[in-house]
Amino acid sequence: MNRLGLYLHVPFCRGKCRYCDFYSLAAPERAAAYVEKVISFLPALREKTGDRPVDTVYLGGGTPSLLPPASLTALFAALRERFSILPSAEITCEANPESLTDEVLAAFRAAGVNRLSIGMQSAFDEELFILGRLHSAADTARAVERAHKAGFENVSLDLMYALPCQSVDRFSESVKTALSYGAVHISFYCLTLSENTPLYALRDRLPDEETQREMYLSAVDLVEKAGMKQYEISNAALPGFASRHNLRYWRREEYLGVGPGAWSYLDGERFGMVPSLDRFLTAKDPFSLIDEREEVDRAGMIEEEIALSLRLSDGLSAARLSTLAGREKADAVLKKLAVLSEKGLARPTADGFRLTPEGFFVSNTILADLI
Ligand code: SF4
Repeated sequence: MNRLGLYLHVPFCRGKCRYCDFYSLAAPERAAAYVEKVISFLPALREKTGDRPVDTVYLGGGTPSLLPPASLTALFAALRERFSILPSAEITCEANPESLTDEVLAAFRAAGVNRLSIGMQSAFDEELFILGRLHSAADTARAVERAHKAGFENVSLDLMYALPCQSVDRFSESVKTALSYGAVHISFYCLTLSENTPLYALRDRLPDEETQREMYLSAVDLVEKAGMKQYEISNAALPGFASRHNLRYWRREEYLGVGPGAWSYLDGERFGMVPSLDRFLTAKDPFSLIDEREEVDRAGMIEEEIALSLRLSDGLSAARLSTLAGREKADAVLKKLAVLSEKGLARPTADGFRLTPEGFFVSNTILADLI
């Protein structure tokens, strides 16, 4: 039987960051009602997923560390009661430094959370200020220290690059600082600005593409020198600490997403819940909240296989692609990857090709051509 991942979207933040276009509301006072609603939906959700054993759980957001500790405890108790969460399951909670208190950490531990993903973003207060983050650089240092003291070994730190006025040296310093905190996993995301965010006004101050490329390659170099493996375009980890939950997205494995704006992939179909907390809180049935559906047909599967596997350092398997797409289509893709390999953008593996870090940086262009 296929294993399952559970994703819970916690749509609350203390304030809104200036670059954020995720569905999250500055209304943490509604968090307890949200958790009660999730718990009331669990029987119906369990009926839909059947007996699949759950091997990853991920609370993302938003800011899951804003959930009241009593709500967290009730939520995990209900999840364990309804779903077969394996004892070896990876259970991740995202957290922001300013809200990761000892009390929240204790509630996470008691609930069986064994992985923390903390939104550090930068080691510089000026950059955090530009982003509209509510924490300081010192807050992150203290949060990681508290997490370690509370017994969390598996701590990931998120960083952002290509910020307005950021230099390559500054970004490299942030990566070095994250490593110095003892993170076992680092994510480095390129800032992308949507027109509907306040930071869009600073779009003229973004580093140019060549500077962004240097930033990206310097991060890859620094994390690898620290013993991490870059296992995905924007993620690197020490051995044994790659995010199992996130890997399931890129490996096209099944997951159930719950919460306003959360997506699922189940029984060959992707579907998303309407991004509205009001609708979520008043719905009687979780499936009445699904407002988007995409059936993944064979053509879709082939496209996803190419696009998702090439995000990973394991790369594209020629045998898998051939089984899915047929020999002719697979050969055409492999031929193009061989040409990219001559340009240093891809590299042969035992069973196909992977992109190099230079290739990852221009992967959007590469994938547009391959697909
Ligand atoms: S903490 Fe994350 S989800 Fe919340 S406003 Fe900031 S970027 Fe958006």
